[in-house]
Amino acid sequence: MGDVVYDAVVVGSGPNGLAAAIELARSGASVLVLEGTEAIGGGTRSSELTLPGYVHDVCSAVHPMGLLSPFFRSLPLEEHGLRWIRPEASVAHPLDDEPAVMLYRSIEKTGEGLGRDAARYSKILSPLVRQGHGLMADILSPPLAMPTHPLTFMRFGLKALWPATWFARGCFREESTRALFGGCAAHSILPLNAPFTAALGLIFMIAGHLDEWPVPAGGSRAISDALASLLRSLGGEIQTGVRITSVDELPPARVFLFDTGPDQLASIAEPVLPERYVRRLRRYRFGPGVFKLDWALEEPIPWRDKNCLLASTVHLGGRMDEIAATEAALSRGEHPTRPFVLLCQQSQFDDSRAPTGKQTGYAYCHVPAGSNVDLTEAIENQVERFAPGFKDTIRARHAMHCGDFERYNPNFVGGAITGGSADITQLMTRPVARLDPYTTPNPRVFLCSASTPPGGGVHGMCGYNAARSALRQLDKIAPGSLRA
Ligand SMILES: Cc1cc2nc3c(=O)[nH]c(=O)nc-3n(C[C@H](O)[C@H](O)[C@H](O)COP(=O)(O)OP(=O)(O)OC[C@H]3O[C@@H](n4cnc5c(N)ncnc54)[C@H](O)[C@@H]3O)c2cc1C
Repeated sequence: MGDVVYDAVVVGSGPNGLAAAIELARSGASVLVLEGTEAIGGGTRSSELTLPGYVHDVCSAVHPMGLLSPFFRSLPLEEHGLRWIRPEASVAHPLDDEPAVMLYRSIEKTGEGLGRDAARYSKILSPLVRQGHGLMADILSPPLAMPTHPLTFMRFGLKALWPATWFARGCFREESTRALFGGCAAHSILPLNAPFTAALGLIFMIAGHLDEWPVPAGGSRAISDALASLLRSLGGEIQTGVRITSVDELPPARVFLFDTGPDQLASIAEPVLPERYVRRLRRYRFGPGVFKLDWALEEPIPWRDKNCLLASTVHLGGRMDEIAATEAALSRGEHPTRPFVLLCQQSQFDDSRAPTGKQTGYAYCHVPAGSNVDLTEAIENQVERFAPGFKDTIRARHAMHCGDFERYNPNFVGGAITGGSADITQLMTRPVARLDPYTTPNPRVFLCSASTPPGGGVHGMCGYNAARSALRQLDKIAPGSLRA
């Protein structure tokens, strides 16, 4: 690291760490990013997990929030190699004895598959989608920021408060509409009868009506590669293979931003943070984990309803009641026999992911935190249920359980993939309740990871918001060692 003194040091090169570094660098600060592993990108990395020539997304796969993120939209990421590929539909949700219900960009076209709910669906979604970009910006802003579209934000907020199960039963009459909504809401990784779980169902549906849920050409690593390339073009530096375990390993700087979980912030920065704050960081809850499979496939998944091939994401779990029961069992520490499966079929839209004529498949389900149970059969049975003959298309598979995820990236504590539980108590107050959640009692230390608002996903908004907080302090602080 030499004798250079940086304005800012960022620990971790996930999408939020890189976003924070870019915002600091484009505001004129000198920035160094220190990444613990040999590869940058955190949850946005891709590699040949199964066979040569098959590129799999190790973590994030489909990026509605990446495409809609106000911060990413302000960056010239295409000039640095990022190309979003849009599928024809965002979501397919196959059902046992009826056609798959689909989420298309067009509300009308989506409504054609919703039977008696078409008009009601349009009445709920259309006003939110009309101001959709502004609404997304408000949702992704720091918790106490004044909404720029207060009426739409309030309209959204009144619906978002509801448990997803109540919302679906109260608003929709068709099982297909309820299932589509339930699948989107289940991305919350919470019991669907918990307050605020309607929020994520609505957010993902609004996102799907603003634009298709895209995959990045070449794999999710293309996102971090583009962010890193942009950062370097702004003068920022990145060093890999530098895992920080103590404040004494940090080079001198004015401010330090941690793209880590609150648990790591507590252990690394304990000597420079008040004991009470450290205790609160340690009480942070990460929530359930995931079990994930990647497949090298001979051919496209043989869905019974061929429309499923049009969507980047397929939700497997049947009717909403079934999904709700599965996710509720999870909160009791039980493993599902018929899990709710989030499946992505990136190679269907991106030729670079598999050898000619072959395909990749990606699927995961939620499991109790820290689980090492192998759910390969349960997940593959769920795919087979809606795509008979699927198992015969598998050439090779790669499995990851909670322990594998935590070893891969220490931010995935217990296999939790979204930076921590977003239940009602932690939704707005992650990592601890503070007016500015990116700050800590030490004016030189900031948290910028998905464990801050607005939470999990590849959108860079936690990093951007944290960088804005750090920039407000920068001129007031002299550079030096964090211990000083
Ligand atoms: C299986 C799975 C599927 C997902 N699917 C999606 C999806 O489809 N779409 C989506 O938008 N999101 C998805 N996500 C979530 C998304 O990947 C994360 O929310 C996002 O990556 C969080 O970004 P981050 O920058 O906060 O942290 P991370 O991406 O976790 O990056 C943190 C980085 O910091 C490094 N680091 C940690 N501690 C230290 C240390 N002490 N010293 C140095 N370096 C350190 C880590 O090695 C890592 O590189 C998924 C995640 C997983 C695991």
